[in-house]
Amino acid sequence: MQTIKMDMTSGIDAGAMKMAGQILKDGGLVAFPTETVYGLGGNALDAAASAKIYAAKGRPSDNPLIVHIADFDALDSIVKEIPETARKLAEAFWPGPLTMIFRKSDLVPYETTGGLETVAVRMPNHPAALALIREGGGYVAAPSANTSGKPSPTKASHVADDLDGKINAIIDGGDVGIGLESTIVDLTEAAPVILRPGYVNQEMLRQVIGAVELDQALLRDDPNLHPKAPGMKYRHYAPKASLTIVEGTSEAVTEKIKALAAAEEAAGHRAGIIATDETAALYPDGIVKSAGTRADEITIAMHLYNVLREFDELEVSKIFSEAFETPQMGQAIMNRLIKAAGHQIIKV
Ligand code: AMP
Ligand code: MG
Repeated sequence: MQTIKMDMTSGIDAGAMKMAGQILKDGGLVAFPTETVYGLGGNALDAAASAKIYAAKGRPSDNPLIVHIADFDALDSIVKEIPETARKLAEAFWPGPLTMIFRKSDLVPYETTGGLETVAVRMPNHPAALALIREGGGYVAAPSANTSGKPSPTKASHVADDLDGKINAIIDGGDVGIGLESTIVDLTEAAPVILRPGYVNQEMLRQVIGAVELDQALLRDDPNLHPKAPGMKYRHYAPKASLTIVEGTSEAVTEKIKALAAAEEAAGHRAGIIATDETAALYPDGIVKSAGTRADEITIAMHLYNVLREFDELEVSKIFSEAFETPQMGQAIMNRLIKAAGHQIIKV
């Protein structure tokens, strides 16, 4: 299949967008930018289109898709009921990086929800995404536009690296703004529960709807605890080199990573280091990449997946990363990093 590239880095091309919408209406797949990561879109109400998404990504079929809408009223026909908490959260955070879980209506095929009776819904805050959803019929199922097992794409070139030739079109909207997938909150139980941490953190949710729990399975590496979001049980991404996170005070972390990298290089291997703008110059050995600055934690979220993809291209045997327990997005950043590290953490 020839994948059409649509350049919208300097604004929406209305003609091309119409064409992209038609591809979705015809059951095809279009990758598009959102404010979190690039999504791989198909018509959410078309079982065959959802099946194509799973096939293109190589995604396990029990890992449900998020349905993207462009207007709050579109929610009515795909869910059984809209709890008051959802109205409040939508008012506060939509369009934006928050996904809510509802009981699904019969309109939503099980192919889209991975066989579940619930459906995940989000209204993304990106003009190209909203335009595509409107042109494409109003309901776009879109997981991250990467091959399953790779980091989520934060640039159109990442999408092309993984899916060129497998999907109908890629809309290039430039680099994304947040860089980590949306926060997922489940509203189908008695108390709201965060199933996946993201930009919208527990405290921000609490201020709008009161008590919000965090899925316990996300906090501990316990094989008896099963995350409620089926996708969270997969070790999404394992870098080619083994990844270890070093956690502690800034000075202790830097010293430990310096020693680990020096030992690796002395043994004749190359070490990779994930640092920050504040610390990058402190490491004499290894290939050092800064994820961003601690003064603006969103830069770390934004660059993390790209840095991991870059290390896969390099011949490093081990990667050592600083921990990023930053105030707002720390939980989300560390959740993704710990999974990539397969829970290898050194505390100093
Ligand atoms: P992705 O689209 O790649 O960001 O992955 C979507 C995430 O949402 C996965 O972790 C899914 O397991 C989760 N998800 C989607 N729908 C549901 C649902 N109905 N209930 C729980 N988790 C869901
Ligand atoms: Mg994903």
